[in-house]
Amino acid sequence: MSSDSNSCEKPKYKRIILKLSGEVLRSPETGDPIDWDILKRICEQIKDIRSLGTEVCIVIGGGNIFRGLSGSKDRGVDRTTGDYMGMLSTVINGLAFMECLEKMGVVTRVQTSIPMNQVAEPFILRRAIRHLEKGRVVIFVAGTGNPYFSTDTTAALRASEIQAEVIMKATKVDGIYDKDPMKHDDAIRYDKLSYIDALQQRLNILDSTAFSLCMDNEVPILVFSLNEAGSIRRAILGEKVGTLVCSDD
Ligand code: UDP
Repeated sequence: MSSDSNSCEKPKYKRIILKLSGEVLRSPETGDPIDWDILKRICEQIKDIRSLGTEVCIVIGGGNIFRGLSGSKDRGVDRTTGDYMGMLSTVINGLAFMECLEKMGVVTRVQTSIPMNQVAEPFILRRAIRHLEKGRVVIFVAGTGNPYFSTDTTAALRASEIQAEVIMKATKVDGIYDKDPMKHDDAIRYDKLSYIDALQQRLNILDSTAFSLCMDNEVPILVFSLNEAGSIRRAILGEKVGTLVCSDD
């Protein structure tokens, strides 16, 4: 574990991937794709968990700016072109995170799956791990670099490669329920679920490619709400937060 831990609280996880969809950055008031106050609040939480000693990678989506599938359906953009536009959107979001984190004194590196030397480092697994060991936050951008994939799949892939102990997937809801909690008062939240149960109940936690990768490589997925104060910290410290999807044993 990197050496800059300044807390006596012991984190449960040594290395995590935080998966954030681009929409978390959108301003609810103005609709701007990047709300700098929201970004700052998220970065403060990231800084906080870094200080616990956990190695942190971020996979950021791009849905606040462009999504290939909706671009092709609604605007007639060729799907592959749209997907590249989506991947480039994640680069914009990733640079915003880098700026904000670095201004807070958190040393950050951005690695991209699509080479763009002037903008970010290329994704190199061993280099990413070295950054983590040195206590730097690593932001993975440009998705997998391939159209027809998602940033959830990117998170599953990178988590497998860097041997992250968990993917923390931030959502608007505070976990996984047996039915839609917005529509049913008696909806029950799961603390823990197996991959098989999640599949059988068609809970759609991640898209199917991402979910299969996690299941095959036994990467646990923690679904939690970013809106709950200190939720990332509490999850890192092993408190019961959200729903953990993992293997049966
Ligand atoms: N995308 C892609 N390949 C990838 C990752 C992303 O083509 O490996 C494109 C795709 O068009 C997607 C967009 O980038 O819609 C933004 O990613 P995503 O929808 O996963 O972002 P989020 O919903 O998490 O904000």
